[in-house]
Amino acid sequence: MEDISEIFSKSQDEIRAIQDDGVRRMMALCEVGHAYYREVFSDRGIQFSDIRNIEDLERIPPTSKEDYMTRPEEFVLRLPEAPLFEKIIYNMLYTTGTTTGKPTPFYNTAHDYYATLMISKRVAQIVGLTPEDTIANTYPLTTVPHLTFFAAFWYATVIGARLVSTLTGTPNPEFPVTNSSRHAAKMVETSKATVLWGIPSFLRRLLTIAEEIGLDYHRVRMAAVAGEPCSQGLREDLIRRLERLGAKTPHVNNRFGFTEISTVLVECDREGKGGFHNPAPDHFFLEVIDPETGKRLEDGKPGYLAVTHLNRRGTVLLRYLTGDIVVLSHDPCPYCGRQTTRVVSQPFRKSSLIKFKGTLINPEPLVKALSGIPEIDEFQIVFTRQNPEDPLSPDHLQIKVATSMDEAVAREKVIDICLQTVEMRPEILFVPKDDIYDPDKGFKSKRVVDLRKIENK
Ligand SMILES: [Zn+2]
Repeated sequence: MEDISEIFSKSQDEIRAIQDDGVRRMMALCEVGHAYYREVFSDRGIQFSDIRNIEDLERIPPTSKEDYMTRPEEFVLRLPEAPLFEKIIYNMLYTTGTTTGKPTPFYNTAHDYYATLMISKRVAQIVGLTPEDTIANTYPLTTVPHLTFFAAFWYATVIGARLVSTLTGTPNPEFPVTNSSRHAAKMVETSKATVLWGIPSFLRRLLTIAEEIGLDYHRVRMAAVAGEPCSQGLREDLIRRLERLGAKTPHVNNRFGFTEISTVLVECDREGKGGFHNPAPDHFFLEVIDPETGKRLEDGKPGYLAVTHLNRRGTVLLRYLTGDIVVLSHDPCPYCGRQTTRVVSQPFRKSSLIKFKGTLINPEPLVKALSGIPEIDEFQIVFTRQNPEDPLSPDHLQIKVATSMDEAVAREKVIDICLQTVEMRPEILFVPKDDIYDPDKGFKSKRVVDLRKIENK
């Protein structure tokens, strides 16, 4: 049997040659049946046969999320002559729409689904998931099918591990199939789970509930998290909570995933020092680009992450901008030695910058610092106005806090962190934790909200 992970021991030149082949293959397929790129290439006077390798990709204008979301059906290859394996839609996922709020379909043919299973097997090897593991999938059931919920099935299926889905989510009165988060916490114990699979803010709450009930999580060895950023403070907090529940040497495996690759870029080491590894450089080419000029930036320079599919048949994207600002490295990983592109920074979105009191501020350092305080159960940063009804009223910063700490101590601590990170003095409001984030209702916690009228944005 061919070693599915052989790609990681190839040299940079060998990987590049495989990627060049992928570019030529996708250009030939797009020329036959990709409505969107046929139009773009024709408008720009680009011949598909002119794009022969990774270098030539720079001639293709980047595809924005908006381009894809306004005409998603035109991004699906139509290949009348292809075998059924490459044409039949095997499943589909949705990526959330940013402009209209309407979810955008992402189609996988059988070819794409088999590829996803193989890539899942590689990811399992990188992070050390084994057939002895029992994965507790704590992603909620949602009305729109998302990557995160289904990925747990793929991993368990392809490595032969056991899987239990805790199936939280917004209750549906007609089809009462979901469980409460309290029930979910108990399921982790009764299923003897060794791996927790979920969104960091939900896992944090689940562990809080488990501590309140007095559950035994001594078998849990890993929390595999994705779906929102997991800061160092939050990582340490999850580990401390797991240890209090009996876990011996638990660690957090942080991943950076998105629907448009149907997998995750993943950490190889326990502390996450090696960054997020691309598990499939033969399927996805990653580059960092300047969105204005479309030029590729070199390693170490922050820029917009763009993905080009090298071996897909359903929805196909070329130089697709995910919206994340990242730094890439092509050096072999100093921790595992794998030769593959790595994202070596915490992905960041420009849209998270907020104009407040006349300046642009980045709330991320504040979120990170507050996530690292173990006594704070939940928090929310609220950008509002002194009089919320009056659009001319001055900007006002509130921080809602749910904590077991003495309120005077907590107030002083949070104000101090706020002054240090964003140089502003907030109003502190103490509230019950479910007022900020009710895990039985929401998909993920909202750490930052902006309640001001649109004209200030
Ligand atoms: Zn590594």
